[in-house]
Amino acid sequence: MKLTTIFNEEIDTPCAGCIVTNNSKFKDGRIYQSKLWDLSQDFEIAYPGMVVLSPLRHVSNYMDLTTDELQELSTLLSHCKKAILKIFDCPKVAYMFYEKPDGHIHFVIIPLHNLVKIKSKYAVLEELMEKATELKTDTTNMQKVTEAIKQFRNYFQNI
Ligand SMILES: [Zn+2]
Repeated sequence: MKLTTIFNEEIDTPCAGCIVTNNSKFKDGRIYQSKLWDLSQDFEIAYPGMVVLSPLRHVSNYMDLTTDELQELSTLLSHCKKAILKIFDCPKVAYMFYEKPDGHIHFVIIPLHNLVKIKSKYAVLEELMEKATELKTDTTNMQKVTEAIKQFRNYFQNI
C-alpha cells in the first residue's frame, strides 16, 4: 500500500500503523509515545487536533490487547480529552475505533470545533475525508495543524 502523508512523505508499507508508529518518516506528526502506544496527528487528514492512538506492536483485534495496553489506553484517552479541552476550549470530542482483519487497530480522536457540523460522529469523518485535499493544501490550515501538534506535545511532556 502506497500512501502520502499530510507532510507529503511517500510511504510504501504493508501496514500503515506499523510504519507510522515505528518509522521516522512521520516524525513531524508524532506527539507522544508511551511504553505501549503511539499518539500522532492523523497522517491522512490535516485537521487540527485530529489524533490517532495506535499500539506500538501490530495488534489486529481489540481482544488481543494486554491488560497493560488497555490500562495505558484508558489513561491516554483521558489525557487526549483534557489536552483537547485545554488547546481548543472544545468539550466535544468524537472518537472512532478501527479494526480490520489483519489490520492495525487504532483510535481516531477528533475535536468537534470549527468546520464540523455533525449529525453523528461518523458523519464527521466523512466530511473530513471529502475535504482531505483542501485541508492539506490550505497553508493557514497546515499552520494550525503544526501549532496543534506543538501544543499536544507540550501537554504530553508534562503528564
Ligand atoms: Zn501494524
